[in-house]
Amino acid sequence: MSVFTAPDFAGHEQVVFASDPACGLRAIIAIHDTTRGPALGGCRMWHYASEADAVADVLRLSQGMTYKSALAELPLGGGKAVVLGDPAHDKSEALWRALGRAIDRLGGHYVTAEDVGTSVADLETVRTATAHVAGIAEGGSGDPSPATAFGVFMGMQAAVRHRLGGADVTGLRVALQGLGHVGLCLAEHLAEAGAELVVADLDPGRVDAAVERFGARRAESAAIHAEDVEVFAPCALGAILNDRTIPELWAPVVAGSANNQLAEARHGGALAEHGVLYAPDYAINAGGIINVSHESTRTGRPYDRQAAYAHIARIHDTLARIFEAADAEGIPTSVAADRLAEARLRQAA
Ligand code: NAD
Repeated sequence: MSVFTAPDFAGHEQVVFASDPACGLRAIIAIHDTTRGPALGGCRMWHYASEADAVADVLRLSQGMTYKSALAELPLGGGKAVVLGDPAHDKSEALWRALGRAIDRLGGHYVTAEDVGTSVADLETVRTATAHVAGIAEGGSGDPSPATAFGVFMGMQAAVRHRLGGADVTGLRVALQGLGHVGLCLAEHLAEAGAELVVADLDPGRVDAAVERFGARRAESAAIHAEDVEVFAPCALGAILNDRTIPELWAPVVAGSANNQLAEARHGGALAEHGVLYAPDYAINAGGIINVSHESTRTGRPYDRQAAYAHIARIHDTLARIFEAADAEGIPTSVAADRLAEARLRQAA
């Protein structure tokens, strides 16, 4: 397995393999870029098919965090951690404390937070071994998911205005894939705004709850991207926009929270050719990290939810700017977002 020559290596500053055989910890911490500040990004726990898959995931996710924070103009760099294991069976207090010690040895260059497979409770245990933890209740802003969902809701409205010319999402049909921490909260915003929901999740209990609470219609997880709706909102796992799904998309707008929605970078171009306006994932799902950047440990002032949410609402304008640049230059929105993020990184350098 190679790291320096991996396709996603992208000039990472540091990649650390952490192990503790006593508790079974096997983790990889990737610090992509600290030009704008300490590398902040969540810790994912996942049952990877191979170590190579875990390396590819952490490299790709941490670079995404660099771009996400640069685009949101935060004083933060990009990093990510992955713990190799099954979140349903392999968690223990000893494991989280061992991860905390590994993070602490990096002296604050990497700051961790919640991600897929980890919870605020897990992070609170990590916090007993290191101060470099964000997004937990104690002294912080808590679970970042509601903030992420609010940002997606703002960004979705920018996309709807740009592509469909309407004022907001009232009366529009939105297909929501994934009713987890973010998806459920996004469903609340959409239902409140008068959107019609079509939902899918691998967990039938979550689908039943959404049908009952929001009058949503249920769809098959494997086919929800092909629903006849105005907006497809991927809020589950990545690589949902690929060679198979893009030709099947009916929605003129794709706007959701999932990280790494494009299976490969070229799929940004494929979406544009298919006539779909794609809200680049790291631009629209930055609400959580923007919220974390308002925590007292980062600002020196008490966390102010109103100020944080006003900042998150600016995701609307960032996306509008990306859409306009893509139109003006005749490039996919994913490329326009990358160019804006890279310009902001260069400014900081
Ligand atoms: P979560 O684990 O709470 O929820 C994910 C949901 O998706 C679960 O209910 C799961 O059953 C469902 N799911 C998984 N595969 C599916 C499939 N093929 N079809 C339908 N449903 C499926 O995760 P979350 O925190 O809500 O995050 C969702 C996505 O948003 C992830 O990609 C995450 O990386 C991204 N994201 C989250 C945040 C945040 O603040 N939580 C921030 C930025 C990005």
